[in-house]
Amino acid sequence: MNTSVMNVILERIKAYDRILLFRHIRLDGDCVGATKGLEGLLTLTYPQKDVRIADTQHSDYLAFLGPDEAAIPDGDFADALAIVIDVGSSNRISDQRYKMCREIIKIDHHIEREPYGHINWVEDSRSSACEMIAAFYETFRDELAIDSHTASCIYTGMVTDSGRFEYEGVKGDTLRLAGLMLDQGIDTERLYAQLYLRDFASLKFKAHIYDQMQVTENGVAYVHITREMQQRFGLTFESASAAISYLSDIRGVLCWLAFIDSDDGAIRVRLRSRFATINTIAEKYRGGGHACASGATVYSADEMCSLIRDADAHIKEYKETHEGWL
Ligand code: AMP
Repeated sequence: MNTSVMNVILERIKAYDRILLFRHIRLDGDCVGATKGLEGLLTLTYPQKDVRIADTQHSDYLAFLGPDEAAIPDGDFADALAIVIDVGSSNRISDQRYKMCREIIKIDHHIEREPYGHINWVEDSRSSACEMIAAFYETFRDELAIDSHTASCIYTGMVTDSGRFEYEGVKGDTLRLAGLMLDQGIDTERLYAQLYLRDFASLKFKAHIYDQMQVTENGVAYVHITREMQQRFGLTFESASAAISYLSDIRGVLCWLAFIDSDDGAIRVRLRSRFATINTIAEKYRGGGHACASGATVYSADEMCSLIRDADAHIKEYKETHEGWL
């Protein structure tokens, strides 16, 4: 655990009257949980400080974590400390006015490619950014205050980014820190219901995905969620993107891909894998991310086919050189 950088961060937090928290475009449980969680810790501990989240995006399925954030006027940035959480590359920060802040801290669990902060606390072995916020709380627990709502926010990110504690990045420390959050009194039955209950229409969409999915010769599953499909099932970009998880448990398939048409004409790609790493493929197509969970963008059917071919060749090679995959 990197306690020296945590000490520096706490020092900087104490030095500022205004702290603005930033996160990435396309909200997920981890970036919302981590920013709302850190906001909670700091507001409870330092009620005299002005702590806010600079991001007005909305997410339906995360609305239970609290109201959307209010817009922040331009004039509030210059004397603020910016803490950017869960964003590997600066172009994905949802409010680019973070640059106007006096000092920038980056807290992230993606592979370090761009240390855009004045202080960078990056641990790519962490299963979520929320795990880092929980570790920060644990390190200074004699000094920091917490309540059950704040713990619920942090726990939500730990659960969602780790696939309910299933992914490879989950270590003993993850579960110990999750336990520390649970100790604050989280209504897990309600929390899991908020996250995982599905409505009737979305299960019909799931059935359609299973009908449409294809698998390459060497074990890459993929599906293209066209605009027509999105309209037919009344999907938001967010709900269409969820289709990636439907392809995750096919025997013999080590890599799965969802291509989602977006409004700007681009085709967003979500890449996932088991055992084999696939972020090198994402990087070839304007993307990146974690070893087994990455994102990319393509602009044509040809490029889509080319990415599928690359993934297929990659998995072929993996299967030829490794044993024990399922
Ligand atoms: P997603 O499919 O959006 O959940 O993305 C999976 C992971 O890849 C996330 O941790 C993202 O941070 C990362 N990622 C997604 N898109 C990009 C991109 N264009 N460039 C770099 N990293 C990305």
